[in-house]
Amino acid sequence: MLIKNVTILTMNSNKDIIERGVVVTDNDKIIDIGGEELIDKYTAHEIVDGEEGILIPGFVNAHTHCAMIAFRSLGDDVPDRLKRYLFPLEKMLVDKELVSLGSKYGICEMALGGVTTFADMYYFEDEVAKSTKEIGLRGVLGETIVNFNAPDADEPYGGLEYCNWFIDKWKNDELVIPAVAPHAPYTNDTLYLQKAFKLAEDKDVPILMHIAEMDYETEKYMHEYNLTPVQYLNSIGVLNSRMVGAHMIHVNDEDLKILKEKEVGISHNIGANAKGAHGVAPAYKMYNMDLKIGLGTDGPMSGNTLDITTQMGLVAKVHKLYNNDRSIFTADQILEMATLGGARALNLDHKIGSIEVGKKADMVIVETKSINMQPIYDYYSVLVYSANPSNVSTVIVNGKVIVKDKTLLTQDYGVLIKEFNKIKDKVVEAASSL
Ligand SMILES: [Zn+2]
Repeated sequence: MLIKNVTILTMNSNKDIIERGVVVTDNDKIIDIGGEELIDKYTAHEIVDGEEGILIPGFVNAHTHCAMIAFRSLGDDVPDRLKRYLFPLEKMLVDKELVSLGSKYGICEMALGGVTTFADMYYFEDEVAKSTKEIGLRGVLGETIVNFNAPDADEPYGGLEYCNWFIDKWKNDELVIPAVAPHAPYTNDTLYLQKAFKLAEDKDVPILMHIAEMDYETEKYMHEYNLTPVQYLNSIGVLNSRMVGAHMIHVNDEDLKILKEKEVGISHNIGANAKGAHGVAPAYKMYNMDLKIGLGTDGPMSGNTLDITTQMGLVAKVHKLYNNDRSIFTADQILEMATLGGARALNLDHKIGSIEVGKKADMVIVETKSINMQPIYDYYSVLVYSANPSNVSTVIVNGKVIVKDKTLLTQDYGVLIKEFNKIKDKVVEAASSL
């Protein structure tokens, strides 16, 4: 495949920009990058005309629970929502069918917004894996483990056994990377956190977990051990490079040193953190310390949207405001976190995250014809401050075009909306009992 008539933001180590650029792919890989001289050098089976759009590496959504889209716009303003509202609601309603339908819908939204890789943790994760394959995204998918009866387990910690089976089933897949996902330190005791970590080590897979998100989480570990959540996790030996921590809001300088030393991945979920009034993570410090930090949306009940474009604008604005300095977090740094940073957090930067020869062909074209996209003096600024997910026109994952002319080729999401309408009454009824 040959992609032409685009400005390429490579996100390589020099952050090279190639105007009127050309990218050539062979199957799933990028094999050449350059100017228009490449058009005559290759005989392409498929030519993608970018129509003067901006070609970037696919966005990485480093933390979500996409099937929760079934509950989007429900109970947004309920206090202590997670324990009082969300967990009971999930126990009543979440089953295989809901996860299958919800994950398909959520993955459609991610694809249309230019997300090519996402990390997800939920129940019945096998259904999420099937949806991921069907729509053609790359997913790091972890089955949730909690210390109570979950929708997919009749006993506490039942998720651990499911994980074992799930990892074996998907271990060698091209697009699905199975993972272990203990929900959080406060929903798993020390022994089970260590068991989950050992399973990830034994199977050589990532481990996904919410870390240092809640104020009651910090209080618990300070009270019990006089340690922060990060220090506690380090003390029980479960932090290393395979760990991807979502949120990491309540962390101090000592914690940041631990995260650096242990090469822990971080998903910074600014939209969900702000909406949940959880606090502002020290993301600018993390970036400058060269920690493995990417951006995440969190579940659509927490952050409501599943695209990374929305997050980029928020990250820039919230951190400038919070630090009282408009010069920090430049637009290229934000796009770096949204692409290569997410890839680093998930230990996939050898494969994805930048447009470089030898990497997987995961790329996105953002069109520049819409009214909000002109004029362009700085490509990064336009993407971070002016673009919205509906400016994404073409999405390529693993060398295959899955979105063309803003249309998803691999799924008809109109059919999914009709299916959702069938379950809405059930959801409303369950929610009204809480
Ligand atoms: Zn989450």
